[in-house]
Amino acid sequence: MRAVSISPDVLVVTSAFWQTNAIALRSGEEAVLIDSPYLPNELDALPGLLAGAGFEPNGLLATHADFDHVLGRLAYPGMTLGLPESSVERLHRAPGEAQRALRQYDAEFYVIRPAPLSLGQVQALPVPGHVEIGARELELHPAEGHTIDGMALFDRGQGVLIVGDYLSDVEIPWIHGSLADYRATLARLAPLVEQAETVVPGHGSPHDRDTTLRLLEEDVEYLDRLERGEDALPAGRDTKAQREIHAENVAGL
Ligand SMILES: [Zn+2]
Repeated sequence: MRAVSISPDVLVVTSAFWQTNAIALRSGEEAVLIDSPYLPNELDALPGLLAGAGFEPNGLLATHADFDHVLGRLAYPGMTLGLPESSVERLHRAPGEAQRALRQYDAEFYVIRPAPLSLGQVQALPVPGHVEIGARELELHPAEGHTIDGMALFDRGQGVLIVGDYLSDVEIPWIHGSLADYRATLARLAPLVEQAETVVPGHGSPHDRDTTLRLLEEDVEYLDRLERGEDALPAGRDTKAQREIHAENVAGL
């Protein structure tokens, strides 16, 4: 797990597994944790690491309901998890989905956890909308297409855009929702990226505006090629794991 300070009030913690990002935001006495690291020892160490950097979250948020993003309560038991309305609907439609997926991956990689995942109290957040953290306002924008649910969070005051599983330097577009929604999300994110200083994807490295715009262009180009039936992955992301995701995308078309 590595931690990168974006500003005194924004800390990005990256899991050693899938480079999954968790983001701590602070304003005055208030702080939130968005998404989560993955490995049990990372979740165990997280409260100490954040407290040492001056972040004491009083709430949890997640960009979407995929199991690898909703593990915050394993680090902060009893805390409420705020999710976009679309994610809460997804939880109601497929109860236990996150828990089943986590058990399946843990079994595959021999990961043992001290406690099973319980999502506990979940709060549905209207999207588009906003949440307040201390004196700051976090904008919530719909981000669907990777899955049927999701939101991006824009901390305009800090110039930090948190996009969930889009615009990654390590992962190609992975379409579990719909291609049309995916395209709409990229189009919606583009002007937000233009206004951001730093963009934090769900997996991979935080990037500056220009690098993210390049990734966005590559992603749009990948979707165009996917629709034309071409097997071309973005340069730099053409790996065995990404080929498997590409095969899933092709099968889902
Ligand atoms: Zn993910």
